[in-house]
Amino acid sequence: MGLIVGLEEKLPSGFLLTTVEKLAGYMRKNSLWPATFGLACCAIEMMAAGAGRYDLARFGMEVFRASPRQADLMIVAGRVSNKMAPVVRQIYDQMAAPKWTIAMGACASSGGMFNNYAIVQGVDHIIPVDIYLPGCPPRPEMLMDAILKLHEQIGNKKLGPNREKIIKEVEAAALAAKPTHQLKGLLA
Ligand code: SF4
Repeated sequence: MGLIVGLEEKLPSGFLLTTVEKLAGYMRKNSLWPATFGLACCAIEMMAAGAGRYDLARFGMEVFRASPRQADLMIVAGRVSNKMAPVVRQIYDQMAAPKWTIAMGACASSGGMFNNYAIVQGVDHIIPVDIYLPGCPPRPEMLMDAILKLHEQIGNKKLGPNREKIIKEVEAAALAAKPTHQLKGLLA
């Protein structure tokens, strides 16, 4: 796996790169190890997802690691206080790359009901987020669904020249999008 991670960005586009992309995606998505930590009530649902009734192990998702250096998935389960934010960022920085993040619940995604000075209004202010999981709290089934959706994302991730092409396409689409101040809400 280490050899593949080093080579993938150097390969020319075409059949060979497509094959390596598929192989790297397959291996990455099937070896996700979440970091062990929870911040608030959503963490209880995360723990329930790992216990006998829901049994994340069926999907090979349950290898929660006590050290961030052995983990590549961060499940932000609960509200993030301003005091905790630097700790969350440090754990993220210590995790092995490539790494992914799920914002579990309304609080982690947007601050939820805690619209106040003490709570970070969405964990994406401090780390990149790949999946936003709604709910207060989301049920264990929803967390499992989010992890499966993340598997799809990882499995389809492009590498090398293909990734550069996608980044350019996304940037062009963003530039062509309607400015936010011209968007109308549902009641407008
Ligand atoms: S989303 Fe709801 S359950 Fe989750 S941390 Fe916030 S208040 Fe608690």
